[in-house]
Amino acid sequence: MRVLYDIAVIGGGPAGTAASVTAARLGAKVLLLDRDTFPRPKVCGEFVSPEALGLLTELLGTANALLSQSIAINRGRVFLGGRLSTLEIRPAARSIPRYDLDYELWQAARQSGVDARSAEAVKNVEGDGPFTIQTSQASYRAEAVINASGRWSGVCGTPRAPEGPKWLGLKAHYRTTTSADSVDLYFFRHGYCGVQPVGKSVVNVCAMVRSDVARNLDEVFGHNALLESLSRDWQLVGEPLTTAPLVHAPPSPTSGQILQAGDAAGFIDPFLGDGISLALHTGVAAAKAACLFVGGEMDLRPAATRYATEYELRFTPAFRKAARLRRLLSVRPLQPALAGFLKTPYLAEWILRQTRPGPLAAD
Ligand SMILES: Cc1cc2nc3c(=O)[nH]c(=O)nc-3n(C[C@H](O)[C@H](O)[C@H](O)COP(=O)(O)OP(=O)(O)OC[C@H]3O[C@@H](n4cnc5c(N)ncnc54)[C@H](O)[C@@H]3O)c2cc1C
Repeated sequence: MRVLYDIAVIGGGPAGTAASVTAARLGAKVLLLDRDTFPRPKVCGEFVSPEALGLLTELLGTANALLSQSIAINRGRVFLGGRLSTLEIRPAARSIPRYDLDYELWQAARQSGVDARSAEAVKNVEGDGPFTIQTSQASYRAEAVINASGRWSGVCGTPRAPEGPKWLGLKAHYRTTTSADSVDLYFFRHGYCGVQPVGKSVVNVCAMVRSDVARNLDEVFGHNALLESLSRDWQLVGEPLTTAPLVHAPPSPTSGQILQAGDAAGFIDPFLGDGISLALHTGVAAAKAACLFVGGEMDLRPAATRYATEYELRFTPAFRKAARLRRLLSVRPLQPALAGFLKTPYLAEWILRQTRPGPLAAD
């Protein structure tokens, strides 16, 4: 007979591992499935925002060296409309390769007693509680399901990509002799490129760009004179990565009675550097709601509704404000004025704070 899990979590990125660890610590019997094996690289700016760090410490444990040994990022520099604005990042963010971060989170899930299975892609989910989860290898049953399978997995339907050129995510690590201690964002028409140190003499370069503007990082560099001159010193380390399409759609924290966390629920603009934090926080919130059902405090439907309400209050406003900021930044004639405006003391910091998740409501 097939084992019945309390909760099946689909996807072992930050959202899925945060959900799994939280649910297991609350006493649930958890199955975690990922189609990849860990460690694995990932298209990401690898900027881990201050809002993520407290939760990461709780999930990984204070003894974990990943956070303490990672590079602190105290400053952001924005190159917009030919001007430079600088903002302080207080408390500091961290630069952590996803190769290491996701692996450590996967290990934390295992150590919490989660049945974590890699190289197992979910093909189909049936039912309305209990659920049957069909993977490339087997079939499982679970009382509740959390979909944390990322932006474009199709596990619970796929958002429609708008007509016209696609948006791409591009990433590579480069060896350099001139690494700054800041996260630097270079905006250009229909795209931006982020550069930050990620190791000794190594920078992570990550861009979001429209496919009719550039299809690889070399083409991206050609869109900004400063970036082009910097990149002459860079030597590629490992393989460059691409992901597509990047689609912004209104968040959907539930699909039927399946709870959705991280990018599966909503994809926030990457230049804000808050996707990992949102993934962790929504993963924890989804797990806590699912555990109310598993613990017998309420049925699955009200538990899902409770999560959707919390999501709407705490997380959806960040998506709305981020979308407004994206639209504003994309108006070319406004860019020099905006860049000047961002030099107002603390204004850029204040704007960034508006795109962060809200606090936990008091119980
Ligand atoms: C260009 C770009 C730059 C970014 N830069 C930053 C940044 O600097 N800082 C930041 O905080 N955020 C950044 N983000 C956002 C961040 O990468 C995401 O928000 C974050 O990875 C979301 O985590 P997640 O767990 O929801 O999804 P993911 O990290 O995508 O994890 C989903 C997991 O699900 C698995 N999966 C998918 N389908 C299946 C299936 N059918 N069965 C089983 N498993 C499956 C995948 O293998 C994957 O491991 C960036 C995003 C992009 C595109």
